[in-house]
Amino acid sequence: MDYESLDYNRYRWNRMLLSGFWFILLFSIFLECLYLTITEIPSREFILKYMVKPTVFQLSTLLLAETGLRALKGKYQDYILIITSSLLAYIIVYIHNSINYLLLGLFLPVMVSIFYFHPKKMIFAYVITMASVYLMYWTNNFMNHDITLVGLVTITVMFSCFSLVGWGVIRRGRELISHLKSSFESNQELLVKTIWMDKLAKTDALTELYNHMTFHEYFEKLIEQHEDNGLPLQLALIDIDNFKHVNDTYGHRAGDVVLQRVAKLISSKAYQNDFVARYGGEEFAILFTDKPMAEALEMVDKIRLEISRLSHESLGGKPVTVSIGVGEYSASDGKERFFNRVDAALYKAKNTGKNKTVIAAADIAETQLA
Ligand code: GH3
Ligand code: MG
Ligand code: MG
Repeated sequence: MDYESLDYNRYRWNRMLLSGFWFILLFSIFLECLYLTITEIPSREFILKYMVKPTVFQLSTLLLAETGLRALKGKYQDYILIITSSLLAYIIVYIHNSINYLLLGLFLPVMVSIFYFHPKKMIFAYVITMASVYLMYWTNNFMNHDITLVGLVTITVMFSCFSLVGWGVIRRGRELISHLKSSFESNQELLVKTIWMDKLAKTDALTELYNHMTFHEYFEKLIEQHEDNGLPLQLALIDIDNFKHVNDTYGHRAGDVVLQRVAKLISSKAYQNDFVARYGGEEFAILFTDKPMAEALEMVDKIRLEISRLSHESLGGKPVTVSIGVGEYSASDGKERFFNRVDAALYKAKNTGKNKTVIAAADIAETQLA
């Protein structure tokens, strides 16, 4: 499992931690000032021993950490912060060895390591924490005088238990991340599948043009749009001539190839705002929305001519021809009437010799173009 998102905003969080450490320094100076007002130790000695000395050590540690944070990249920044927290805690506990409960402060690096949700960093923090506890115990006379060996064992067990809780937090955090990641991935897969299914539902598998159902949906919407704002709307119905004969002579497979090539030619001639669909078996439809009727007519007749000039290898080099009915929507025609007018024009093209374009007349008395 890839946990790279754990590194997200690493510098920002490390910067915040380091700012927190600066705050610890300021806070400890503030507390020492308070102690200065009540201490029985001579002021000079107190200032030197409890204020100047630890401040110099802490300041040096923090300046080194600042340099490390800027100079080092990636996980090394995290280790710098863990070590810094250990040194800061050590200095504070060591200087104030008479306050033995401060020993708990040595647990700080483990707390810091939980930030990273990384078991290795936590083990590292646990090891340096325990090392500093024992080092403190053996090197600091006050400490080993105040705390018995049993007390040291108790502290060890306590720190280990706290660390186990931290370990649990890390495990749980990582489990949540992997759960979120897998549900995010399956959501994405679902989205891609939905888009793909949507495309499949809207298009025709053979020609990749819009299918019959999508044609009708779009047709209805465009008519509504026309009724609302009077935008131009023309419909062309294109039907391949004698296609049954093509299938019967050259086979269904050859017919399919012809359908694909005719579809490709039509869509290559159409502009972005023209809607091309495979309306039926060997019937295509084009809806024009942004041009005058003369332009739409010119375009479909050009398509007719180009189709008739396209030779097909699968038909032994022969071309196929198409008949076209084309018409413009006129106010309050309605979907049915408009479609029937254009269909009647196509019918007329078929009945008057095929391979021609016929304009649908307003009264369904068609005008022949070619
Ligand atoms: P017309 O000139 O009057 O249009 O005659 P036609 O033979 O083209 O028309 P008809 O409606 O009699 O036949 C249409 C043929 O189109 C019949 C059918 O087998 C064929 N067809 C429909 N869909 C497909 C398809 O997906 N692939 C193939 N190869 N043929 C198809
Ligand atoms: Mg037909
Ligand atoms: Mg036909």
